[in-house]
Amino acid sequence: MDCIFCKIINGEIPSNKLYEDEKIIAFHDINPEAKVHFLVVPKEHICCADKIDSTNSQIIAHIFELIPALAKKAGLENGYRIINNCGEDACQSVPHIHFHIIGGEKLPEHIK
Ligand code: 5GP
Ligand code: ZN
Repeated sequence: MDCIFCKIINGEIPSNKLYEDEKIIAFHDINPEAKVHFLVVPKEHICCADKIDSTNSQIIAHIFELIPALAKKAGLENGYRIINNCGEDACQSVPHIHFHIIGGEKLPEHIK
């Protein structure tokens, strides 16, 4: 499949990995919007939040259960922002669901 995140997951494209288990991977964003900016991505190709349902919500729960530990590992001791862009109007640029974890400095009230 011609999906950049599937290629990162299967090792075809290198990434600066923060964490990996059998269900998810977390790696630093190639174009960080703040001092710390990483992405948490399920290994299963789900295109976007609009396709979350009872068959795949466990993996989303797994991601959110791990976010506190991943944030701690990344040194985010003072808070962070979790962003998910879903679909065209939200400017989702990679159609494989992912959660941006952004912090490491005081963020503007709104970030694109
Ligand atoms: P979106 O706009 O879909 O919410 O976010 C996609 C994110 O993926 C962007 O922040 C972009 O910088 C990041 N990204 C795109 N291609 C790559 C890549 O090849 N490697 C890494 N590490 N990040 C990528
Ligand atoms: Zn994919």
